[in-house]
Amino acid sequence: MTTGDTKLDRVLGAKTAKAFDSSLGLSTVGDLLRHYPRRYAERGELTAIAGLEIGEHATVLAQVERVSKRSMRSRRGTIVEARITDGHRSLNCTFFNQAWRERELLPGRKGLFAGKVTAYRNQLQLAHPEYQLFDAVTEQDEEEHSAAEQFASALIPVYPAAQGLPSWSIARCVRQVLDVWDGAEDPLPRQLLERRELEELEQALRKIHQPAQFSEVESARQRLKWDEALAVQLVLARMRESAREHPAPASPVRQEGLLSAFDRRLPFELTAGQREIGEQVAADLALEHPMNRLVQGEVGSGKTVVALRAMLQVVGSGRQAAMLAPTEVLAAQHARSLSGLLGELGTGGELGAPEHATRVTLLTGSMSAAQRKQALLDAASGQAGIVVGTHALIQDRVSFADLGLVVVDEQHRFGVEQRDALRARAGDEVSPHVLVMTATPIPRTVAMTVYGDLETSALRELPNGRSPIATTVVPVAEKPSWLERVWQRVREEVQAGHQVYVVCPRVGDDEAGKRTAEPEDGTEEPPSDEGEGQRRPPLAVLDIAEQLSAGPLSSVRLGALHGRLPTDEKDSVMRSFAAGELDVLVATTVVEVGVDVPNATVMVIMDADRFGVSQLHQLRGRVGRGSAAGLCLLVSEAMEGTTTRERLDAVASTTDGFELARLDLQLRREGDVLGATQAGRKSTLRMLSLLSDEELIAQARAEADAFVGDDPELTRYPGLSRMVAELVGDDRADFLDKT
Ligand code: ADP
Ligand code: MG
Repeated sequence: MTTGDTKLDRVLGAKTAKAFDSSLGLSTVGDLLRHYPRRYAERGELTAIAGLEIGEHATVLAQVERVSKRSMRSRRGTIVEARITDGHRSLNCTFFNQAWRERELLPGRKGLFAGKVTAYRNQLQLAHPEYQLFDAVTEQDEEEHSAAEQFASALIPVYPAAQGLPSWSIARCVRQVLDVWDGAEDPLPRQLLERRELEELEQALRKIHQPAQFSEVESARQRLKWDEALAVQLVLARMRESAREHPAPASPVRQEGLLSAFDRRLPFELTAGQREIGEQVAADLALEHPMNRLVQGEVGSGKTVVALRAMLQVVGSGRQAAMLAPTEVLAAQHARSLSGLLGELGTGGELGAPEHATRVTLLTGSMSAAQRKQALLDAASGQAGIVVGTHALIQDRVSFADLGLVVVDEQHRFGVEQRDALRARAGDEVSPHVLVMTATPIPRTVAMTVYGDLETSALRELPNGRSPIATTVVPVAEKPSWLERVWQRVREEVQAGHQVYVVCPRVGDDEAGKRTAEPEDGTEEPPSDEGEGQRRPPLAVLDIAEQLSAGPLSSVRLGALHGRLPTDEKDSVMRSFAAGELDVLVATTVVEVGVDVPNATVMVIMDADRFGVSQLHQLRGRVGRGSAAGLCLLVSEAMEGTTTRERLDAVASTTDGFELARLDLQLRREGDVLGATQAGRKSTLRMLSLLSDEELIAQARAEADAFVGDDPELTRYPGLSRMVAELVGDDRADFLDKT
């Protein structure tokens, strides 16, 4: 029997199986069958070269434009250079000491070319290309016979490939596997297949690899997308179900309590969105089962007030609230701004404090032992109504007298598992309410998948009086002189009495020689990286600060801030910048979230291509907070025409976070969305498009809710139960039950 579990070496031989394992991580028949073609080339239709990404292993259907041979000067030998084209743009392919290729790569011939895309002197290249010319296949290699057959058919599957395993070899192996495969039992219940008009799994898998026409690809895709969407939705439906089973500390609004005292002293009117979400949250908090709500709102939309009002409702009913921030700088700042908003209502326990007053306590990993002990005591005794801290709050055994609500700020660094760990903090029987806040607007489909365990609300409007932010890409590869203009602009801004951030991807110092970026405080890796090795290390705070103060910015007061400074030093740098004692702050992404200095008007982001789109959007939200307009300069060496550059252009093109989130989704490989956000989880979306499959995802969510509602353990649906188990994975088998 050849099943999904059969090892590839049994079918393909040890050598080929090893290649699949080491370069693509595929070891079983099932793995290979789920390695879907990325697209299908139609014979006669060339692949657009403009869409290629540097560093990507690409397979293109192209035509030879010209070929030339020359001898190398330094060493003995020859270079054959072929230029291939899609009719618009061209790619260079170079071969060393393979003179015979000149006779084969004749101008006008078409074929598949595969290799890693690199750039050399502003020209795109395929490094060490492998190729398969259409009409030369059979004579060249009898063994490649089946590949030749494939070229004869109209649709050629193009697989995600690797060096040494070009798309056409993968196609041949898939063919071999399909010839002996005994098929698979369909995990989806028959009624579902009929209700949604889906074809059987085996049929879909055969067609996705060997379609006779595009309509077959379509029906196969539809079916395989359902598998992915349903598995994710079943996992989430089970999480929601088990969350509902826990009792929660119901905290109805008290008339004339802390919250109303606070509302009376607010110096501004709540925006309509703040009011509306406030009402939703107030109603959730009054219920007997835990709230799990995500509030998404643009940078500066006033989420802190929303969160504080929720916390005050809970504190007003005699319970405690905890607020988590991703960094110590932010936690400290939150504690300050909450105390500021509370005014005398935050002086609980002090002499002369008003009725209902509470206390805000900061708890971070780097506090002195004595401070920490006091903070822990305040939390445990209930003296502290609001405890603000970093992740340390989850990791440590902090105990609360009566924790009613956990607020997670800027949650794009928190995965499902961390939210689970948080909910467990309240003790064994009850789960606290959870309010998650993010400044990263999330398209609805992503909200339904990655954050599918949460209800979501969006805060779309900004309070009045915000200034616009203009964003410009500074392409230093093409226009090196623009960099000097950047520093000139910074000097002008400082002369006008304003302040400036300069953000770099790396800290610097001891790891100066390392090739790769060291993410600071969870800096997200950009979705697609260029080839390693030929890239220089990302620019570093310490280097740039030194260069600037010795050169173009020698006339200004300049400070440096990064996560490796001791906490009190970080705090004091941040304070002096906020107080206007520094003009320019050179920093890592520690300034990304929440930092609020209204006098800062310009942000220069160095190596902007090393940041993710949402991160850039967050970063620029730090300027234009006061009455003067903001300017964000994205300095990058990314070449025009690359996807990397398109991402920067997208950021420059709009300040609407929701629109940007959509563009970002379009540009990045969609699997990354799940992969990057849920720490460590393997990307599970291969076929499903978060961009265009909104309706399907919504349907799958409804189906999943129905199945789980009917049979929470899915005992009557062994196929579905297996899908859930596969998605959740062995090491996470218990993460569903922790809620
Ligand atoms: P974010 O959503 O980015 O966390 P904040 O909560 O930090 O935004 O709010 C940004 C600023 O706007 C703060 O100084 C806050 O006091 C102020 N703010 C919040 N709500 C309003 C409002 N309704 N009207 C005017 N200013 C507001
Ligand atoms: Mg905030």
